[in-house]
Amino acid sequence: MTNLQSIKCKRLADEIADEIELTPAVYNAICETQREIFVQNVAQAYTLNAQPIAGNQWISSPLTVAKMTLALECEDVDNVLEIGCGSGYQAAILSKLAHRVFSMERIGELANTAKKRFEILGTRNVIVRYDDGTNGWSSYAPYDRILLSAASMQVPQVLFKQLKIGGILVAPMVKNNKQYITKYIKHSENDYEEICFDECAFVPLLNGRA
Ligand code: SAH
Repeated sequence: MTNLQSIKCKRLADEIADEIELTPAVYNAICETQREIFVQNVAQAYTLNAQPIAGNQWISSPLTVAKMTLALECEDVDNVLEIGCGSGYQAAILSKLAHRVFSMERIGELANTAKKRFEILGTRNVIVRYDDGTNGWSSYAPYDRILLSAASMQVPQVLFKQLKIGGILVAPMVKNNKQYITKYIKHSENDYEEICFDECAFVPLLNGRA
């Protein structure tokens, strides 16, 4: 990362930290992730705005990314599954916290571009797969954490099955035409605690590969 990039990343992290309380690990992850690599409009890379990416999809506001990441509590966990890789920015943040990140994307072009970005960045602990995430990714299950980066009315049951006992799943859930960052803690095979946080705006979780 160039000096200028690291100054911009730090400024972004500080701006987020003015809004919400960040843990040192999440603050550092934002400082270490060059957002301009993941967006189309470099001039807008370090603002708190959501950004358009290919395939008519959106990369979330860095503030939302930070909130989702905090809710996930994934520092030092072994493996995280993300559904909705998009640009790869959220996965890049997760890669600074968790040991391994598995990220699924149903749009082939986005999956390929994200893969290339991780190659360029030399990020080796993110594996991107072009596939429908509503079926989860059984090869590496169970997961310590699962993050849905697309909104739905109901979390697919198979994702809860692929979550470890004691694991956390975070998803934007649709309720009364609004979306809320929602955290589920899996206490046992049939016992989940549900905690609802801030409102958010994500594109919908869709079925099948595009
Ligand atoms: N985490 C992304 C956010 C991208 S927007 C980022 O940081 O840029 C949400 C993404 O979820 C979109 O790219 C969309 O194509 C993808 N998506 C929606 N439904 C999906 C599904 N069933 N499986 C995999 N990806 C899905």
